[in-house]
Amino acid sequence: MQNKRCTRCGASIDLAAGYCPHCGAQQPISYTQGGYTPPYQPAGPRCQQQNNTATLVLGIVGIICAFFVPIVGCVCAVIGLVMSIQNSKNGQSDTTGKLLSGAALVILVGRVVLSILFSLLGFGLFLGFASLW
Ligand SMILES: [Zn+2]
Repeated sequence: MQNKRCTRCGASIDLAAGYCPHCGAQQPISYTQGGYTPPYQPAGPRCQQQNNTATLVLGIVGIICAFFVPIVGCVCAVIGLVMSIQNSKNGQSDTTGKLLSGAALVILVGRVVLSILFSLLGFGLFLGFASLW
């Protein structure tokens, strides 16, 4: 027999028990219990719209922040990309979210590469001038 813990008093109780025998607290229904399947909830267009809007906003904010606040842009882009991949896994195509988040990441990587190149260039010029002395 499998046991679970009471949500109120923490006592070990039967997995199938609806109430705790110790304190009487109602227990959440265990979805892993055999025979019971959660009610079917079709993914409504409203839900999909909200998810896609979230990745859209995250992607746009990511691109804007990539120029001004790279750390925030990076966080937004990564979250947007993960969310859009999740949307795709759930059967919701979210190409816009992926493209925007991907673009934000490309801009961020490009920024980092450019800043490294410029600092190397600056260092090279500094060495060049220094060798003149
Ligand atoms: Zn209890």
